[in-house]
Amino acid sequence: MSTVVETPVDTTPEPGSDRPGVREGAFGNATGLVCRECGATQELGPHYACLECFGPLEIAYEFPAVTREQIEAGPANMWRYKALLPVPADIEQSPNMEPGFTRLLKANNLGKHLGIDNLWVKDDSTNPTNSFKDRVVACALSAATEFGSKVFACPSTGNLANAVAAAGARAGIKTVVFIPANLETPKIVNSAVYTESLVAVNGNYDDVNRLASEIAGEEEGWAFVNVNVRPYYAEGSKTLGYEIAEQLGWRLPDQIVIPVASGSQLTKVDKAFQELIKLGLVEDKPYRVFGAQATGCSPVSVAFKSGQNVVRPVKPDTIAKSLAIGNPADGPYVLDVCRRTNGAVEDITDDEVRAGILLLARTEGIFTETAGGTTVGVLKKLVETGQLDPTLDTVVINTGMGLKTLDAISSQVGPAATIDPTYAAFTATGIA
Ligand SMILES: *Cc1c(COP(=O)(O)O)cnc(C)c1O
Ligand SMILES: [Zn+2]
Repeated sequence: MSTVVETPVDTTPEPGSDRPGVREGAFGNATGLVCRECGATQELGPHYACLECFGPLEIAYEFPAVTREQIEAGPANMWRYKALLPVPADIEQSPNMEPGFTRLLKANNLGKHLGIDNLWVKDDSTNPTNSFKDRVVACALSAATEFGSKVFACPSTGNLANAVAAAGARAGIKTVVFIPANLETPKIVNSAVYTESLVAVNGNYDDVNRLASEIAGEEEGWAFVNVNVRPYYAEGSKTLGYEIAEQLGWRLPDQIVIPVASGSQLTKVDKAFQELIKLGLVEDKPYRVFGAQATGCSPVSVAFKSGQNVVRPVKPDTIAKSLAIGNPADGPYVLDVCRRTNGAVEDITDDEVRAGILLLARTEGIFTETAGGTTVGVLKKLVETGQLDPTLDTVVINTGMGLKTLDAISSQVGPAATIDPTYAAFTATGIA
């Protein structure tokens, strides 16, 4: 006699088994990926290029009714907008840096200096690693986790590496970050404290980016936040747009000035404004989007001014290293947004970038990095050249923190005097 013990056969399908590896609800209200060039669709997954035309993919959604009250009841970070992002409903429970909901400061002093009636600074230097990159990384980390990636990686002009290394450390996932070797020391240290695998590459960002794409193709299970999970990553920038509208009292600004590196942020702030209009969360009205570049890396500005649709790559040479992408992936889409909204793309010299840093510091008490110096300097130029209407409500985005780019400004500021510790020595300075 023998007893046959039958192994029960489990006939219930794996959750989300029609999409292998993707948990049901993992991407919230996102429904798929859509090609920005030809409109072909793909299922949600770790894809970034269209199978038909190799165009860039972006996230498509079917939004439920979302109310201001629902959003306002959410946490004081970017997850208050989770219904509008490709993240699961329980995203707050995952270990993340909780970036966002940074301050929107009414900048009356800077406004007065520039002759702008109503000006606000959206200050993203107060994010966990002191740049807006914490927002995009938070969305990318969520996607990488859902895809079961074992390495969290990026090519970076500096700030992205800081954000990836920190977020990966907190989430307990291995990080590998790639940067141009000639980066500012504070940006190198700000990554190296979080990760043992910081790789400095002899070359500029575009070289680093090419290398990252090659590695992404060779290594299994590596999530390069801005390469193979770029569609998810990019959505994080929308939260800047949502926050600005909410903090203005649920209305859109008339004009907004945004720095341009790859151009992703600018296009996603516009996408956010469009979504808010469609959802009825703000009133539909015209707004103008302006892009800011440094002349030493201004391929999008050059294309805008010469009326072209193609962005010709350049070799970057500017102190605004966080914006130094010579071949910007979203450049053509920046042109589309700025032309459609009756805005512009403008560029300024490195001296004007430094002046922009000092101007923001001395009018508003905000120490920005070279990217912010570029944005504030371009704002000034847009007013002076009559491209921006100073009577309209204007927002300028400060994307990063001045302590990371001290070298850019340290030769211009310092002690007014060095004296012996006596009252007589002090009065001799003439400061009192
Ligand atoms: C990356 C970066 C930008 C530009 O971002 P894109 O989305 O690539 O255009 C602007 N400011 C700072 C400080 C950055 O680090
Ligand atoms: Zn396509």
